[in-house]
Amino acid sequence: TLSSEAALVDGLIEAIPDFPQKGVTFRDLTPVFADGAALKALATALTRPFEGHFDSIGGLEARGFLIAGAASVVSGAGVLSVRKAGKLPRAVLSQEYALEYGTAAFEVHVGQLPAGSRVLIIDDVLATGGTALAAVNLIERAGWHVAGFAVALELDGLGGRSKLEERGVETFSLLQY
Ligand code: AMP
Repeated sequence: TLSSEAALVDGLIEAIPDFPQKGVTFRDLTPVFADGAALKALATALTRPFEGHFDSIGGLEARGFLIAGAASVVSGAGVLSVRKAGKLPRAVLSQEYALEYGTAAFEVHVGQLPAGSRVLIIDDVLATGGTALAAVNLIERAGWHVAGFAVALELDGLGGRSKLEERGVETFSLLQY
């Protein structure tokens, strides 16, 4: 049985068949983001397991930003912007990662946080774990510590959790499909 927070979020997630391509069921969290109570419940649930163990919230562009902003308000920690390549104006550190076709990269501003800062990474969906792992590598290369990875929805059977756990990253998901 789901917690009341999980049930509230679960009831608002839409499954979109064959988006962005045939065979993929896209999990659309925009109704969760559009509902103040649900967004607050999600942010609270994702930060609670890591309470006292993080100094900053690493939001992954773009859907992770929305949850990270809410998580910042409920926890009091600020947001580290983990952006797609080419968006940040100052000196950056980059981390490439593989997509189904081609590659993408995440970037952070060098020196954005004090050395050794503990960063809780937040995103909407965990699938293969490639995106999360890129963020982990980037944050560690920048001289910070990964406090954990928290996600609204974990897709079972795609290997994301085991990739993160092999890397020593504590992973929490509110919902598992
Ligand atoms: P992955 O790197 O395979 O773990 O994919 C995770 C990233 O892709 C996250 O940033 C998600 O927003 C997005 N993503 C992957 N699969 C889905 C899906 N079925 N529905 C919605 N978003 C997804």
